[in-house]
Amino acid sequence: MQNFLFTSDIFKGSRYEKGHPLDMDRVWPSVELIRLMGWINENQIIKNSPAEINELIKFHDLEYVKALKKAEEDLNLPYNLKKKFNIGIGNNPIFSEVFSRPATAAKASIKAVEMIADKKAKKILNISGGTHHGRKAQAFGFCFLNDCVLAILKALEKGFKNIVYVDLDAHHCDGVQNVFSENENVSIISIHEKNRWPNTGKFEDNKLLNVINLPVNESFNDNEMDYIVCNVIIPFIKVKKADLLIIQAGADMLDGDPQSRISLTNNAYWKAVRDVQSLNENVIILGGGGYNPYLTAKAWAGNWVLINNKEEYLNQEMKSQCYDLLKSLSWRNRRVKNGIPHKWISTWRDEYKNYTIGYEILSLVDEILKIKNIC
Ligand SMILES: [Zn+2]
Repeated sequence: MQNFLFTSDIFKGSRYEKGHPLDMDRVWPSVELIRLMGWINENQIIKNSPAEINELIKFHDLEYVKALKKAEEDLNLPYNLKKKFNIGIGNNPIFSEVFSRPATAAKASIKAVEMIADKKAKKILNISGGTHHGRKAQAFGFCFLNDCVLAILKALEKGFKNIVYVDLDAHHCDGVQNVFSENENVSIISIHEKNRWPNTGKFEDNKLLNVINLPVNESFNDNEMDYIVCNVIIPFIKVKKADLLIIQAGADMLDGDPQSRISLTNNAYWKAVRDVQSLNENVIILGGGGYNPYLTAKAWAGNWVLINNKEEYLNQEMKSQCYDLLKSLSWRNRRVKNGIPHKWISTWRDEYKNYTIGYEILSLVDEILKIKNIC
């Protein structure tokens, strides 16, 4: 059995509206970097089409899905529907693929679960997934559909009994926790920035049986990430005897991302992904947040290397074609007004940094171990 990567042509050329934090390319550049480095065989790349409505309504309301489809067809919606479904309002703009694009990402996550359940794949990377804020009948936080929820529902349908969902995004996975916080077959672990939108994921939620929330301050550092992974996440997954791991690998905790104040290096990010994915044979890694196109494309390309246990590839020199590709990506952000920082596009790994583990993280971990009775 092989590992697979899901993608689609829809991610090339489809963009959120001008000025939106997602007005940039992240999915296809990640795949292209993997190809250019020679890290993948073409037969490991699966191009899928959008999910059917009957697949989406396993979670989403039919009326909502129909409205989203109509928004794509008409590039507009009547105001009452916009308001009701939060489509075309605020940060959830109507764009030409507003239904097809998230439906394609959702299909890949659903199909990933099916392939693993049917023993047709070992580990799967769906870079376009990870839309963890999506609601049953509302768009929320740039997410029109919730592929994470759809994947977990499919896993339950396929008979998985101990699904562990680990969310490394800087923002709390409210849309996933809302659905599964009381489901004894699903555990949810999230590390996220404290006091950041959507302001959920409080420490107090740890009293819920299958939820671990680790809200961290903006000073959260590489060594603290590793401490949490080794002392809370890994032991918890082992206790749970997970039969499927789904990792939402949002890259917005990286230093240089405009949507969080946390400044991890990609060394800490990749070590977390590597350590967690190595715990299980059945693994799906999704994308998620990541609003600096250069850092995000590298981070997600690296995740492919990690599920193939080829971490040493990340010490390779970046090929000049990869540098050229990264350099060609456009990003309207003040961080590049004087040019793209060389280090973002010239090497795979960030410089290693060594930090002290602060008292706050030590005590957060202690408290959670006590609450969850993990030793
Ligand atoms: Zn995020």
